[in-house]
Amino acid sequence: MSRNAFYDQVDSTLAGIASDGLWKAERTITSSQGGSVEVASAGEVLNFCANNYLGLANHPLLATAAAEAMEQYGYGMASVRFICGTLDLHRKLEADIASFLGTDDSITFAACFDANGGVFEPLLGPEDAIISDSLNHASIIDGVRLCKAKRYRFATRNMADLEAQLRQAQADGARHCLIVTDGVFSMDGYIADLASICELADNFDALVMVDDCHATGIIGPGGKGTPALHGVEDRVDIVTSTLGKALGGGMGGFIAARQNIVDLLRQRARPYLFSNALAPGLLGGGIASLQLVTDGDNLRSRLETNAARFRVAMTDAGFELAGEGHPIIPVMIGDASLATKMADELLGLGVYVTAFSFPVVPVGTARIRTQMNAAHTEDEVDRAIAAFVEAGQSTGVLTR
Ligand SMILES: *Cc1c(COP(=O)(O)O)cnc(C)c1O
Repeated sequence: MSRNAFYDQVDSTLAGIASDGLWKAERTITSSQGGSVEVASAGEVLNFCANNYLGLANHPLLATAAAEAMEQYGYGMASVRFICGTLDLHRKLEADIASFLGTDDSITFAACFDANGGVFEPLLGPEDAIISDSLNHASIIDGVRLCKAKRYRFATRNMADLEAQLRQAQADGARHCLIVTDGVFSMDGYIADLASICELADNFDALVMVDDCHATGIIGPGGKGTPALHGVEDRVDIVTSTLGKALGGGMGGFIAARQNIVDLLRQRARPYLFSNALAPGLLGGGIASLQLVTDGDNLRSRLETNAARFRVAMTDAGFELAGEGHPIIPVMIGDASLATKMADELLGLGVYVTAFSFPVVPVGTARIRTQMNAAHTEDEVDRAIAAFVEAGQSTGVLTR
């Protein structure tokens, strides 16, 4: 037992991360989040790596709504919801989310990470089964770990495997069975096949939960998400999502579901019971963002146009892209150091993108995940494409 040895071990882990080319450096931004940002080391650059799909993060109406809410309600709540932390604004935001998604009610959390961390344990016990897509978000994996239900994992988007796992859960005598999937797989840009998932769920009388963080506000009719895209809003039992992406990019997570599920979560979900209520500014901004998103068909169509333009031109240029039907467009590189080098070159060319490597994606599948944004003009998309081609040639990515 040695305290010094512990600190040496931390240092050697850090050195290993760096020497494996996996170091995630944080670049400092000195402007608001937008289609362009001011990066401390690089000046003004086009931003192609924010979850700011509709370009609302620096929308003046949201900042004003947040300021007005703070003017009226002050800065913080200093309480969990059930003690003295529930404002009329919390209930308004939760009702607005529910009406946007067409559910009975919704419940907010400090983040979707907390929503996913708290959703399983109160609803399912050791007699039950959770069947989870292998690429589900880290917060789902953690939430499932905190729950006593038996765990089953199916190969990502593989419906035959999902069916096999459902059969296995049934054979193991599961009382209730919950299928859990991301609506959009954020490292790859693919949309879950909810129509098939819901059909299988019907066959096995299973429940369905969708984490729609990368879909709420942008995917499906009216931006109502992947259940709406597949016409299965009424079959999906639980939707979790975030205020931290398309809905203005502030912070806050939520769960939308039937009344009794939401009621039980208010009584039992640990991140709800034991963590501070969302602050007034986030509530005012969140309510205003739902309004902008509800009226946001023009933003969604701009986003779609930008994504199509980028995908076609990058494919023509010879890049290997992943994903389909979503403004996440990963440019596959493979080697982690090469991906980092490419991202660095792109920043020098005025385009801010980020290289993703292990442990965020599997070893050897490093990529630059681009994300389209309704705030970009066609000309800006074209500038990004030209920069990719230039950096692709100078790093050798395009000539392999
Ligand atoms: C971003 C994200 C989360 C976490 O949301 P926060 O509100 O930022 O905590 C959870 N699940 C998925 C699929 C996400 O993409």
